Amino acid sequence: MEFIKSNLDFVNEKIKESAERSNRQFDEIRLVAVSKTFPVDYIKAAYEYGIKNFGENKAQELRAKHQELEGYDITWHFIGRIQTNKVKYIVPIAEYIHSVYREKELKEIDKIAKKHNKIQKILIEVNVSGEETKGGIVPEEVEEFIKMAMHYENLEVVGLMTMAPYTDDKGLIKNIFDKLRELRDKLNVKYKKITELSMGMSNDYEIAVESGTTMVRIGSLIFGKRNYTTGG
Ligand SMILES: *Cc1c(COP(=O)(O)O)cnc(C)c1O
Repeated sequence: MEFIKSNLDFVNEKIKESAERSNRQFDEIRLVAVSKTFPVDYIKAAYEYGIKNFGENKAQELRAKHQELEGYDITWHFIGRIQTNKVKYIVPIAEYIHSVYREKELKEIDKIAKKHNKIQKILIEVNVSGEETKGGIVPEEVEEFIKMAMHYENLEVVGLMTMAPYTDDKGLIKNIFDKLRELRDKLNVKYKKITELSMGMSNDYEIAVESGTTMVRIGSLIFGKRNYTTGG
């Protein structure tokens, strides 16, 4: 599994360079290794390297891997579409849920978090690009949604998440990431706990670092190509 370690060396080096270019500290940026569809042996290899944050997008897969990795000091991130009937599998495991944008999700996450005596950290998914196929709420409605989330005692909104379109147009991607950062900055004045920005994937994480991201979600660049016929 040497390739995972050399990929991680590469990604860390790139994050460092992007941070330096934008006068940021390397340790302000959390690398979330997206392990969806990959076996637990891959997670173990990254863990040995020093990676503690892993992202999954399917509730059952998260649950199975968490079980297999008992005793590992892992911070789990749920980054997928939320099915409300599966929130009960996610909340006991995930430190962060990145992809919340419907009121019924707030309600269900709060309900399950209460049962587990937990304050669940969530990020609001924002559809900055306006692509119809993407989840998330439009930037103009984010504050209203945050106010709604604040009515739930067992939820804590800690940040915003977005996905840029899949394109080679770096200027377009930069524009989207900058918009999300501006929105976070604006909200942070009123809502002190909103500090995190989850943006940047294998093809655009360097741009995200330059735009101020605090969490990059990187899968294929670390673990290789995903095979969806055997995984989630
Ligand atoms: C799969 C996934 C990623 C990682 O994508 P890569 O291109 O493999 O880095 C990041 N974020 C979300 C929401 C994902 O579903």
